[in-house]
Parts: sequence; structure tokens; C-alpha cells
Amino acid sequence: MTNLLNWYVSLGTAGLSPEAAGRMRSVQIGAVRKYTPWMMLASIGNALVLVAAFWASEWRFSVVLWASFIVALASLVLIRRRSGANIVPPRTASIRGIRSMTINSAIFGALWGVVPALTYHSATADQRTLLIAIAAGMMCGSGFALSTIAPACIAFAGLVALGSMIGLSATPGITSLLVTMLCLSYMAVIIFSALMLGRTVRDRVLSEMESEEQKNDIGLLLNDFEANATDCLWSIDRDYQLTRISDRFAALLGMPVHDLIGRSLLKLVPAPPTGEMTRAEKASLRSFQRSLVRKTAFRDVEIPVLINGARRYWSTSARPLFSPTGEFEGFRGVGHDVTEQLESRKHIEHMARFDALTGLANRVQLKDELDAALSRLNRYGEKFALLLLDLDHFKMINDTQGHPVGDKLLVQVAERLRSIVREHDSIARLGGDEFAIVLTMVETDKEPANLAERINSKLAKPFDLNGITAQIGVSIGIAFAPNDGMDADTLTRHADLALYRVKNDGRGGFHFFEPEMDAIARRRHKLEADLRTTLADGGLEVAYQPLVDAQTGKVLTFEALARWHHPELGTLNPTEFIPLAEELGLIQDLGRQVLMQACAQAAKWPDDVRVAVNMSPIQVRSNSLFSLVKGVLEATGLPPNRLEIEVTETLLLDASAQVDETLKALKLLGVRIALDDFGTGYSSLSYLRKYNFDKIKLDRSFVTGIDTDPDSLAIVDAIIKMTSDLRISLTVEGVETTAQLEKLRERGCREVQGYLISRPGSLLQVQAMLEAQPQGVVVAA
Ligand code: C2E
Ligand code: CA
Ligand code: CA
Repeated sequence: MTNLLNWYVSLGTAGLSPEAAGRMRSVQIGAVRKYTPWMMLASIGNALVLVAAFWASEWRFSVVLWASFIVALASLVLIRRRSGANIVPPRTASIRGIRSMTINSAIFGALWGVVPALTYHSATADQRTLLIAIAAGMMCGSGFALSTIAPACIAFAGLVALGSMIGLSATPGITSLLVTMLCLSYMAVIIFSALMLGRTVRDRVLSEMESEEQKNDIGLLLNDFEANATDCLWSIDRDYQLTRISDRFAALLGMPVHDLIGRSLLKLVPAPPTGEMTRAEKASLRSFQRSLVRKTAFRDVEIPVLINGARRYWSTSARPLFSPTGEFEGFRGVGHDVTEQLESRKHIEHMARFDALTGLANRVQLKDELDAALSRLNRYGEKFALLLLDLDHFKMINDTQGHPVGDKLLVQVAERLRSIVREHDSIARLGGDEFAIVLTMVETDKEPANLAERINSKLAKPFDLNGITAQIGVSIGIAFAPNDGMDADTLTRHADLALYRVKNDGRGGFHFFEPEMDAIARRRHKLEADLRTTLADGGLEVAYQPLVDAQTGKVLTFEALARWHHPELGTLNPTEFIPLAEELGLIQDLGRQVLMQACAQAAKWPDDVRVAVNMSPIQVRSNSLFSLVKGVLEATGLPPNRLEIEVTETLLLDASAQVDETLKALKLLGVRIALDDFGTGYSSLSYLRKYNFDKIKLDRSFVTGIDTDPDSLAIVDAIIKMTSDLRISLTVEGVETTAQLEKLRERGCREVQGYLISRPGSLLQVQAMLEAQPQGVVVAA
């Protein structure tokens, strides 16, 4: 019997673990308790209705007694329910709770069942209707209010139905039969729905328990994580007050956890004063605050914080929390102290932007400084200048004294520059011995000029490099913004062009950029590209200018002069493209082409006419000149003694054994060597002795004043005498007037060259001159 009762009351919780069954019972009881007051009130109301219905009948006394009992019982339940209203329902409930609920329900069910059972057969039609309606209502009400506890629900509804059916059975008839069947079907529905609801509750309780278990697991894991990881966890509520904070975070803040809970996160981590933060720091702090206010997630935001007066950096990520109905509930996040990482990162960044030797900015940093200056220029019209500096003779000191001394010099140069330049201007070392200065807040070009002058004089003073005294100079190119450019690249290029100009003018001093420099540089650029293609196509031509006998006018030699007919720029002067070819490493190719053309032509000329070919020092210094000349002579069949090679004094200035050897070998081969432009360079007479030249060509500058300036004439006289004594041929270049020619003839000059006789001409003109030859060339006299 007890077993049966136990089985009955554990209907719905059977098969569950004791804990789960306890939880489920607690949920069941909680749900029923919620509806109990309404059930009791309904009972009292229904009881009073029955009293009214049976007042005039023989049952009056019994019904009043019954109703009083019901009212008393219901009131008792109500009072008990009220006094326990505020008690938080326990998490689990024992089987006893269900049992007493079931018994109570059974008592109530029996009380309600007994009325129709006893009174139905003698009741009036109206009373019967009322009885059936009340029984049905009570059954439905219990089916609703007691449904979570199936045993209680079934007991209550079953007893009411039973009582009703007993009453109905005493009055056989079709209506009674139908109502009985209705009763049975209601019962079936109630039993079925109670059992189903029980299953739903059971499932819900189980899944709740499961997720709680997961939560516990996560909590355990998190605790473990907090204890071991460097990350700190925090969460705040909708008022930004801390609701949770890990021990580590609290330790970072230097306060115990319990003191921190409830305090505003923003107040706890005050930022450093605005003036002490960099632009990037301010920006990330703003983004952190903005995300909090806008309730958006953020990730790895690095914020500067002040902890106990010391500056630290935190990297923090967080996401906002929202309730299922979309209400903001705060933030949950992690963070960690990244001060050390940040500092080492800053250190690396510094290394990437500053020169390790001098501590000055490097190219990268300079570019940023220039960009900053440009944006100030755009915004406030603040002009500035860019100075590019190149030390003179640094390479020599570095090469002869060694790199440590060179480094010392650079450090001292940097120090001197720092001592001159104002604090808000920046100095950069661009590498090697190149420096740059951005001079800000400039009004006129006087300021950069003044600075350049001061730099020039400051760096001209001797440097003491641990006992070694070094003297250097500096070349400075200046570009002025906005006049000389509105972007970093243009300004740098222009300052560089100005610097190039200073170096070309012989180093030392400074120069401002001028627009012509740009045009020159552009032209140079174009020529560079075009020269390559022209040479590759063999497109260079040669003009010939005769060197003639001063007395008879007979052509003795034709000098080959390179010509470049540029399709757009017209015929270009060799003084422009020869240096370019030298710089670009194209001079060998160019020289070979001229030599080849000149020798091939000369081979067709009469035997007593020579050809003279100019050689750049680079060609002579290369060890391939001899084999080139030999090869060309063989290929063209020109006898070596009909080739004259013109070299300049610059070649001899630092002539190597290689040069001596080449010249000697060429002479041995039979090729004649002439010293060109004599008198413009060092005119050292020792060269003449050492190299045993076949010819000297006196530069045209001496001829210009020959008919007016006695000094020029005296020099020409002396040279004519000296060369005849040394038995070296002499050609006087640049004869332009008959007066000059006359003077030279008078002095016994044998050979002349110049526009008076002929300008350099084409092969056709050469042909014409040669054809005129046998009759003897008539020189204008
Ligand atoms: P250079 O060797 O002194 O050549 C003579 C230059 O003087 C030629 O200029 C010629 O046109 C010019 N000239 C001749 N007579 C007179 C005159 O009466 N008055 C004036 N004012 N000038 C006169 P060009 O052809 O422009 O050549 C310039 C320089 O280019 C040459 O000076 C030579 O050093 C170099 N050069 C020319 N062709 C070659 C070459 O194939 N190879 C190398 N390495 N240099 C060359
Ligand atoms: Ca020449
Ligand atoms: Ca010359």
C-alpha cells in the first residue's frame, strides 16, 4: 500500500537522479503554490454559490456545514500561503512536499466530489445544472492549477469526477449517460495533459541543470585561467561599475578585490594628464571611452593609465552585454599590462627612425617631419626650408684614417649642427656624410641663408678626433617651401639639385634651388635615356675639322669630333654629352664608335692626311684601349702612324702605371699621341718630358688675345720656341680671325686649327677639301 502510494506520488519524477528529482519537485511545488490562492478563492466562491442554491432545500444544513468546512480549510491554506509568501523557494524539494500536496488535493477533491454524489438524485433541474457546472469548473481549474504535479491533479479531478458520476448513476437516463461520458473524457484529457506537462517540466529542469553544470565548469576553468594567465578579467554593469574583477587586475590596481567591486571603471583607471600623452595615446584612449559609451565591442585597445602615479599601458578587449530583451547590461572584458612590450616596441621603432651613430633622425623620420611641416604649411601657411648637406672631403678622412675616426667626425658634426639649429627644427642623417635640416617657421630666404652660412663656418673649424686634427667643409643645397615644391619628394629633389650645383661649382658654400636646375636635370634625364639608345643603334656621327699648315693651308690632319643629331633637341654639343657618357659608363662604347668611323674614313684619304681622335681619360685608363686601337687599325687597314690620339692633362694628373704602359705601347705601335688643350690645366712641363708627346695643341684661350694682349703673345711665343726646341709639333687651336693667323705666321707657327680655316664639317665637306688639296689650299690671308 505504502509502495503503491510512493509509486503514485513519484509519478513524473521516476527515473531521475535524487538531485534532479528534488529540483523537479521544487519547480512543481513552486508552480502549484503560485495558483493555490486562486484555487482557494474559487473554492470559497463556489461553496457560497452552492449554499445559495441549496438554501431552500432539505440539504440546507448539511451544505452550510460543508461550505463552512471548505471556507475554513481554504482560509487556513490562504493564511499559511500568505505568511510564507516571501520565502524563497528552496532549490530542491523532498517527496514529502509532493505527498502532502497530493493528500491535500485528494481531501479537497473528495470534499467537492461528495456534494454531487449525495445531492444529485434529489436536486432540482436548476441545482443539477449548477452542480455539473461547478464540478466541471473545479475539474478544469485543477487541471490548470495543479497540472505540474500530476498525482495531485489526478487525485483532485478524479475524486470530483467520481463524486459526480456516483450522483449521475442514481438518476439513470440518456442525459446522465452523456454527462458521465463527458466526465470520463475530461478526466482523460486532464490526466494526459498533466503527464505531458510533467514531462516538459522534467526536460526543462534537466537542461537547466546541464547548463548550470557547464557554467560551473566554465567558472572553474576561468578561475584556473585567471590564476595562471597574464590576462585580467573584468565586468561592469550598466553604470560602468565593476561587478567582477580578477585578483590579478586588483593587484595591478593595487587594491583588494572587495574594495573595487561597485566602483566606476573609468574613475579607477585615470588617464595621464592630456599634456603628457602623445597623439596616438590620446586617440586610443578616446576610442576606448567612445566604445564604452556607444556600447560597442573593442579589441586590443592600448590605453595609457596612471597606477599609483606611474604610467602603465594596458591592452584591453571587451564586448557589451545585453539581456535577451535587448537591454544594455554592461561590459565584460579582458586586459593585460603591455608596458614592457610597448616599451620594447617603442625602442625598436626608435631604432627604425633614428640613426644609431649620431642619434639624429634618419630618412624615414625626415620624411615624416617634412610631411608634418607640409601640413602646417597647408593649414597655417607656415613656410619652411629644407637644407641638404654633404660633407666635403669626408671620404678621404674615412679612407685614410679609418672608419672609427670617420664615425667620430660624424658624431662631432652632428653635435655642431645641434648646437646651431633651433629646438623645433629637425636634423637628420641620411646616410654616409649626408645630412638634412628642416628649418621651420621661416619667413624669407634670408633665414635659411643665414643658417647655411653659420653651418659653413662652424663646420669649417678643425675637428679634434682623438689627437687627429681634421678639416672638412660642407656643401649645402636649399629648397624653400612653398616656392620650390609642395611635397616631400619634390623638395628633396630640388634641394638635391641645388646641392649638386654647389658641388659642381667646386664645393663649399650653399645654393638655393633655381627653376633652371630642374629644367637642366630634366634635360639630363632625357639625354641619359636617349644616349643609351642612340649608342646601341650606332646612331652617333662624326664631324671632321682640319688642322692645316699655317703657311700653305694644306690639310695635315682631320680631327674627329663626335656629333649627336638628336631628333628633338637638334645637334648636341659634345661638351654636353661626353661628360654624360663618362658618368653613365657609356664612354667606352662611344669612343669605340668614333674611333672606328674615323679610322674607316681616314683609310680612304690620301696617305699624307692623318686623323686625330679624342680620348677621354677613362678610356685611356682602361686596360683595353691598346687592343681596341690595334684591332680597329687592323680592321680598317689604316697605318698606325696616320692615327693621332688626343689626350688631356687631367689624364696625367693621376696617371697610373697602366696609363704609362698604354701610351708607351701605342707609341711603339706607331700611333701618335697629342696633348690637347695645353695651357688650361696644370701645364706641367715635366709631363712633356716624361711622355714624349708627338704634338701639343695650344688651347684656343691663348689665341683670343693674341692680336691685342702682349702677354698672350709672349706665352704663344714661348711655347712655339719650346716645342721647336723639344722637336714636338704644335697646333694652335681656335684661330678665328685673319689677324690672329697673321700673328701666328709671323711667329713661325706651323700648324693651326680654327673656324677661320673651317668649322667641323661632314664627310662631304671633307671630300671637297681633299679634292681642293692638290692645287694647294688657299688660306684666307
Ligand atoms: P677639343 O678636343 O678641344 O675640340 C675642339 C673643339 O673646339 C670642338 O668643339 C670644335 O668645334 C671647337 N673649335 C674649333 N675651332 C674653333 C674656333 O675657332 N673657335 C671656337 N670657339 N671653337 C672652335 P666640339 O666639337 O664641340 O668639341 C668639344 C670637345 O668635346 C672637344 O674639345 C673634345 O674635348 C670633346 N670631344 C669631341 N669629340 C670627342 C670624342 O669623340 N671623344 C672624346 N673623348 N671627346 C670628344
Ligand atoms: Ca681635341
Ligand atoms: Ca682642344
